[in-house]
Amino acid sequence: MSKINLLGLNQKALAQVLLDLGEKPFRAQQILKWIHAESVDDFSVMTNLSKVLRQKLTELCEIRPPKIISEHQAKDGTRKWLFEVDGGGAIETVYIPEPERATLCISSQVGCALNCSFCHTAQQGFQRNLTAAEIIGQLWVVVKTLKKEGVVITPDRAVTNVVMMGMGEPLLNFDNVVMALDLMLDDLAYGLSKRRVTLSTSGVVPAIDQLRDACDVALAVSLHAPNDALRTQLVPLNKKYPIAELLAACKRYLRDDKRRRITMEYVMLKGVNDKPEHAYELVRLLKDVPSKVNLIPFNPFFGTQYERSDEHAIRRFQDILMEAGLVTMKRKTRGDDIDAACGQLAGQVNDRTQRSIKFKQSIENRELLVQSH
Ligand code: SAH
Repeated sequence: MSKINLLGLNQKALAQVLLDLGEKPFRAQQILKWIHAESVDDFSVMTNLSKVLRQKLTELCEIRPPKIISEHQAKDGTRKWLFEVDGGGAIETVYIPEPERATLCISSQVGCALNCSFCHTAQQGFQRNLTAAEIIGQLWVVVKTLKKEGVVITPDRAVTNVVMMGMGEPLLNFDNVVMALDLMLDDLAYGLSKRRVTLSTSGVVPAIDQLRDACDVALAVSLHAPNDALRTQLVPLNKKYPIAELLAACKRYLRDDKRRRITMEYVMLKGVNDKPEHAYELVRLLKDVPSKVNLIPFNPFFGTQYERSDEHAIRRFQDILMEAGLVTMKRKTRGDDIDAACGQLAGQVNDRTQRSIKFKQSIENRELLVQSH
């Protein structure tokens, strides 16, 4: 019988497991603290539990994070971890330190089914949803690693913000993502404020409404175009949930809370969506949606048909939005020298067959070279 992995269980689910084991559900709070606040993966050190319970947990349960395959560090301090997940395949997690905060960018699926034309993850297709343990496990491993290294950003934290902006569409893996979000927000686990946890979606409208009721984190939407014709080219999901429906869901998400805004992500693609007329159209579109705009200079990858907009085109675009009163930021490109920037995550190890073929070919080529000498 396989062991129950406790890593991916929120307080409620953990309490249920304990109940099923004939234990008092309040033990969940103690165990949660050990696992997430103390980065512990060994029941024997949980000294406020009885010895009998520790033994029982060791027999029946486990705390098992995804395995690290490799780690890379960019010149600007951005770090990227490649994790192996059960059943083959790999996912990537990116750590972005800044002077007063550090953001972890987490993946929710192995690959992605949505086929956005400018995104590298799309090219590998969809493999599977990550489990809640694999999602929260990315944060668990990074926090444990940074703690060991003595990294601190604010007095008690090495990670201050989380963005669900890695590989995959988080709202198409709803239950596991919400379970992991619960843990991020739980004071006994990571205790992040819900304004510092952002979920980015390409616009799965019904799931936006569900999210509002399940876990009220900050929402970012991959808008990328000011009209349906162009958006459908870039984000094919737009055919199913066109812009008007998407923006209506955004407004519902905010529940008339005047202090809150939806972040509208807009990738800057040269000659495609970066002209002044697009900016004016965007202003009209967002007129009555409380939003801020995040312009993302396109990050190229091998084989893409797109180019990054010129600096001056981005500035002109930004100026038009700002003059119309829209808060508009340009996202700084981080970690592009290690393929860790937005849209560059591809979990290279995924395609094992391709890799082993390439590897075999390179060995054969080398042998041919040796033979010809
Ligand atoms: N699937 C979710 C989560 C991905 S978040 C979503 O679509 O929102 C990553 C953000 O980077 C999204 O806004 C995505 O559209 C954007 N992105 C994808 N490829 C990119 C690229 N090559 N350059 C810049 N941004 C890109």
